[in-house]
Amino acid sequence: MSTVLELRAVERHYQQGEERLAILVDADFAMSRGEMVALVAPSGAGKSTLLHLAGLLERPNSGDVVLNGRACGRLGDDERTAIRRNEVGFVYQFHHLLPEFTALENVMMPQMVRGLDRKEAATRAAQLLDYMRVGPRAQHRPSELSGGEQQRVAIARAVANAPSLLLADEPTGNLDPDTAVYVFEALEALVRQSGLAALIATHNHDLAARMDRRVTLSGGKIVPF
Ligand code: ADP
Repeated sequence: MSTVLELRAVERHYQQGEERLAILVDADFAMSRGEMVALVAPSGAGKSTLLHLAGLLERPNSGDVVLNGRACGRLGDDERTAIRRNEVGFVYQFHHLLPEFTALENVMMPQMVRGLDRKEAATRAAQLLDYMRVGPRAQHRPSELSGGEQQRVAIARAVANAPSLLLADEPTGNLDPDTAVYVFEALEALVRQSGLAALIATHNHDLAARMDRRVTLSGGKIVPF
């Protein structure tokens, strides 16, 4: 099956007293394996909401979110958490690495939570750090790494359990332009090599232009940008 993520007639609104703030209205969207899609929209448009819906952190008010053919909208919290752990990786604008652990340990952690033993987790973590071109920094703690290195470790951690969907919220938003390109290229190589589907919210139009497609939020729909 090549469709990784599907939103079917998704409605998502926030109720604030009498006011209803509609973010998504009857919104449809689909992404395939190996596809990189840029999500470009102004602040407050609903990018984080869409990423949270796609990653099963939020539920739609109606409609459904389908991951690898499985309708997840009405599943219980435990099932959603299990699917998220196996199928979804998140990268944020700030790395959120655990400060008291090394880069290697940070990438081992989600694998050990999933039940892999220490040796297997360390082997895969080292491979991923090499792949993200940050292997020589494996034994350093986050505070000893540059911003670009921290983000490359965060990306390695996000894909440690070989998810099928990577969701990123401004992953290069905190980096200088050259570093942003370097981190993006490492991420791009990973997506191409692994067949991940990646949905990446970004304000960087140069990077958005390098992805397969660009979408935005307009009138509650997810439309080509
Ligand atoms: P973006 O990521 O594009 O900046 P968000 O998805 O964070 O946008 O937010 C979209 C809109 O929804 C904003 O107006 C925000 O204030 C509102 N919003 C987000 N989360 C909540 C919430 N939990 N309760 C009420 N309003 C929210």
